[in-house]
Amino acid sequence: MIPTNQLTVPFNKGYLTGDEAGYMRQAMTSGPMTGDGPFTKRASALLTEIIGARQALLTTSCTHALDMTALLLDLEPGDEVIVPSFTFCSTANAYALRGAVPVFVDCRPDTLNLDERQVEAAVTERTKAIVVVHYAGVGVEMEVINAIAQKHDLVVIEDNAHGLGGTNRGRNLGSIGAMATQSFHETKNVQCGEGGALVFNDDRYFERAEIIREKGTNRAQFFRGMVDKYRWIDVGSSYLPSDLLAAFLTAQLEHFDEIQRRRQRVWTSYHERLAAWAAEHDVVQPTVPEDREHPAHLYYLLLPDLESRQSMLKHMLSHGVLGTFHYQPLHLSPAGQQYGRVGPQGCPVTEDVADRLLRLPLYAGMTDADIDTVIATVETFRPRG
Ligand SMILES: *Cc1c(COP(=O)(O)O)cnc(C)c1O
Repeated sequence: MIPTNQLTVPFNKGYLTGDEAGYMRQAMTSGPMTGDGPFTKRASALLTEIIGARQALLTTSCTHALDMTALLLDLEPGDEVIVPSFTFCSTANAYALRGAVPVFVDCRPDTLNLDERQVEAAVTERTKAIVVVHYAGVGVEMEVINAIAQKHDLVVIEDNAHGLGGTNRGRNLGSIGAMATQSFHETKNVQCGEGGALVFNDDRYFERAEIIREKGTNRAQFFRGMVDKYRWIDVGSSYLPSDLLAAFLTAQLEHFDEIQRRRQRVWTSYHERLAAWAAEHDVVQPTVPEDREHPAHLYYLLLPDLESRQSMLKHMLSHGVLGTFHYQPLHLSPAGQQYGRVGPQGCPVTEDVADRLLRLPLYAGMTDADIDTVIATVETFRPRG
């Protein structure tokens, strides 16, 4: 990969709102810098408000938040969790880590979300949960997923790494499942380098989640004066970030609307200005159903085939613009094959789109000139040679 400073337009640049350094200095000088300090409280309150969730706990990553859901579900070896194949490995890894079997279900050809029409056929006696990913922040068909979950007594978890700020028929993404996980990795809309959160919409899990996140101790209750000493009372690990990172994150969440406005501008420019080129060359632009609002997390194009996708990536790079592909199918990956199983209908759509998908650069700090450069570079490419 060529270094970022030699590119005209990199794929991503972590956006700074201007308040990060001041807040971090404040966390350093007034402290404490350990987890659950004043900035952690501020950031969790902001996040809870944006999502409209009941509670939220900051974590060290979305991966760790997913790991916590697996512990909270008390999964046993042989239990099954339905997951999309078209997602990041952490969505499945969390459950494999507990000895459970991720069961891979295909995605829809339009939104690239878990295909709700194929979920029920993948449910067995051992199924405990359904994990959805709102790909590109476009909401999954949650009514259907929730109905299946209710019928078979399954827990619904939203891996909402892409979806912060998105809505589905008026409901905020992240507020629909029993729990939702967020990522604040530098490539996500709101970031602190590495970070995440576990969001609760069901009071059943919160108290135990606090314990699991604090090394299996009731330290959080101790600090609230609810118990006179804290002890090791459950399994757990250290999933809480330092207040230094929470200070950075607070600045980002306070500027959430500004970040989203900037990202929407890039997304809409691509979508409108590339429409004619896409139509002319059989390139498919993202599908966003009318009853959903997306948070401009990513912009992708579906090329006619693998060969044209690869040559388009090369074409862009030769013009100093870094594009990427996305999500190699988990059911075909070495660990996916070792620990998981494919649902009864296979994942042909996932295999197809994984070969054809190309992501364009999208970050809040993109200038008009950056957007023009990307569009001009795309428009000079001919998928059929
Ligand atoms: C980014 C991402 C993750 C992992 O997030 P981390 O915070 O890096 O652990 C998990 N799931 C999805 C869908 C993601 O996009």
